Amino acid sequence: MLVIGLGPAGGAAAAAAAKRGLRVVAIEKKKEIGVPVQCAEFIPLPLARHAQAPGVLAQRISGMKSTLPSGAVTAAPFQGLMVDRAAFDQALAREAEESGAVLHVATRLAELSAADSTAVVRGARGALAIAYRLLIAADGPHSTVANRIGLPAFDTVNTRQYTVRLMKSSTDTDIWLSERYPGGYAWLFPKGEYANLGLGMDPRCRAAMKAPLDALHRQLPDEGRIGRAIRFRTGGAIPVGGLRKRLAVGNIVFAGDAAGLTHPITGAGIAAAIVSGERAGEAAHALLATGDEGALADYEADIRDQFEHTIARARERRRWLERAWREQALGSDAVQRRGWIAFEEYFREPVCA
Ligand SMILES: Cc1cc2nc3c(=O)[nH]c(=O)nc-3n(C[C@H](O)[C@H](O)[C@H](O)COP(=O)(O)OP(=O)(O)OC[C@H]3O[C@@H](n4cnc5c(N)ncnc54)[C@H](O)[C@@H]3O)c2cc1C
Repeated sequence: MLVIGLGPAGGAAAAAAAKRGLRVVAIEKKKEIGVPVQCAEFIPLPLARHAQAPGVLAQRISGMKSTLPSGAVTAAPFQGLMVDRAAFDQALAREAEESGAVLHVATRLAELSAADSTAVVRGARGALAIAYRLLIAADGPHSTVANRIGLPAFDTVNTRQYTVRLMKSSTDTDIWLSERYPGGYAWLFPKGEYANLGLGMDPRCRAAMKAPLDALHRQLPDEGRIGRAIRFRTGGAIPVGGLRKRLAVGNIVFAGDAAGLTHPITGAGIAAAIVSGERAGEAAHALLATGDEGALADYEADIRDQFEHTIARARERRRWLERAWREQALGSDAVQRRGWIAFEEYFREPVCA
């Protein structure tokens, strides 16, 4: 089995398959797994077992404060952990390696011939053709695998984030909903001595993202919450178009962001990446080692059962927010409450009047 990408989905898939005795080769284009971090680094509590390796856990989170355009703040329980995302991804990859998977970093998928199940990968030692029986596409939001087999690119939200010193410790995440962040929101996630301050916005506003982030970055030090110095800058794309039409195409299986499993409103995708990666590794074993011809169809059905409903609602809410943006209604608390997971209006039917 060949795994493309060693983020959470690829690491989990490689570990799950190797533990069951499959021969696994996994490639990652970055020189160092998980570096640079492109994440706000929050994981939900059920993923705690993946935060046990040294250097992964940063702190516990217990609540979410959502600030509406009027300035009204709503507090809600929100259980999870802040992690060092590079250490998190590296721990998963180590688990895969210790289970027998062969990992190659600084190695990218260059070409793919799905018709004869051959991938050309390029690393320090040049190009190499690898014949595979099953390929797991865990190569993130801009999946090369999808591109090479002619599947459409995802709609995405763009993000920009600064890591700064945290001046007042907190176990709450802060979310700001405002017409200043069309197609997204701003966040402050405390991470021990530091915090991740970021925002996501519609890609049409890409050029206009720096100003609103800088405005928050000026305001919060004045309130004594964070320091002014920026320790690290990052960003990246978040797929918001929902699940691919098919998660298994021939002997290629999509997992994580490459499958479109990121939540189109919150942008959270680590949990879905791990769940789908593990499940893809299991399905690979069922197909290749036990000859279960229905294994990939079962994977697809299982992942859809677990995620499709939640993602479909979030997509619908995103459409609602896009319309509100066109109608310049994002400054309304009522509109934002229907578009954010902390409010009961988000879960009420119907969405679009
Ligand atoms: C700024 C930001 C903040 C976020 N914050 C959160 C958060 O707090 N909590 C949360 O749950 N989610 C968050 N997300 C989303 C989360 O990071 C993703 O959903 C998650 O990383 C998906 O994991 P993955 O393994 O599917 O993909 P990725 O983590 O993107 O991993 C894909 C890997 O494939 C590699 N790759 C790509 N192309 C190739 C190729 N051709 N050859 C070889 N390797 C390749 C990449 O280098 C990468 O390492 C955030 C995203 C962004 C951008």
